[in-house]
Amino acid sequence: MPALSRSISAPASLIALALAVPAGAALAAEGVAAPGHAGAPFARMPDIAPIGVHVDKYIDLPDAAKGPPVDSAKGYRLETLGRGLYMVTDNGYQSMFMVYESGVVVVDAPPSYAARLKQAIAEVTSLPITHLVYSHAHADHIGGAGSLGGHPVIIAQAETLRLLRRDADPARPLPTVTFEDQYVLKVGSQRLELSYHGNGHEPGNIFIYAPEQKTLMVVDLVFPGWMPFRRLAVSQDIPGWLAQIRLVDTLPFDKLVSGHVTRLGTHADVRVQIDFLDDLKAAAGNALKTTPFVAGIDPADSGNAWALTDDYTARVALQCVNALTPRWSHRLGGFDAFVWDQCYAMEQSLRVD
Ligand SMILES: [Zn+2]
Repeated sequence: MPALSRSISAPASLIALALAVPAGAALAAEGVAAPGHAGAPFARMPDIAPIGVHVDKYIDLPDAAKGPPVDSAKGYRLETLGRGLYMVTDNGYQSMFMVYESGVVVVDAPPSYAARLKQAIAEVTSLPITHLVYSHAHADHIGGAGSLGGHPVIIAQAETLRLLRRDADPARPLPTVTFEDQYVLKVGSQRLELSYHGNGHEPGNIFIYAPEQKTLMVVDLVFPGWMPFRRLAVSQDIPGWLAQIRLVDTLPFDKLVSGHVTRLGTHADVRVQIDFLDDLKAAAGNALKTTPFVAGIDPADSGNAWALTDDYTARVALQCVNALTPRWSHRLGGFDAFVWDQCYAMEQSLRVD
């Protein structure tokens, strides 16, 4: 060990370096990466880049994922949904507002365009904002509420109030009216029906239905034309989330405001997503059943429970990604961005829920 004997009187950090270099070199010579470093790829590794790996060019968006453009000078698009009801979107987020005889009801205020929400409302009315409805507590959908000003009545499900009390975020003022299961907001000649169907995406996430306009708004359940956001839309109860997506399909809407991405949704979009999620569940379930728990791991790691689990879940996920790619990679926008996440999330849910 000449490197070590030369550095014996050097500072401790240099001794550590000198020890590490020959150890790494020896491992490399045997074709084994240093502990904790990436080794040779798994057999049948998918072409879709795994989580955390740079991608030069993502798969082109299918036509189904494209929506009408957003005016770049305004920073939003206003879309009429029926008498007095409008969607506002920046082609990433979506919210609504409803105009009645003496005011405006705003549903959600995503911070990505909340500063321009009043301008969007001013395009159709000079009436004041009297009510604000929160779809759920997540800051990315209501974190612009505080910037709207005034003192609107704020309506949300009781769980949303509980979560917002905990978060104590001045950007998300506390609801002033809460409900458990159902709430009907009647303002002038307009009507919004709010309902709660339990935990899925997040406790307190509600369905908002405008019966005259046949428009349903429910956020973070369906992603029309797109892959759901990562890890099944970071849903806290995946079986509950899956059940609520099926419930959406039974409701009598024509237009779905889903809170995300480029366009309104339809029943056909809900069915495509159910079809994808059924495929995902089958692929993850099949991979869990057919993947051996221990295969090719260094025997020295056999006492490391997390190493065994990490290696197993990676092999399950890669089989799941391989099963889904032929059918879905060119059908859902952003498939390649999040398919690994979806496989990991579904396999974990199937193991523990
Ligand atoms: Zn959310």
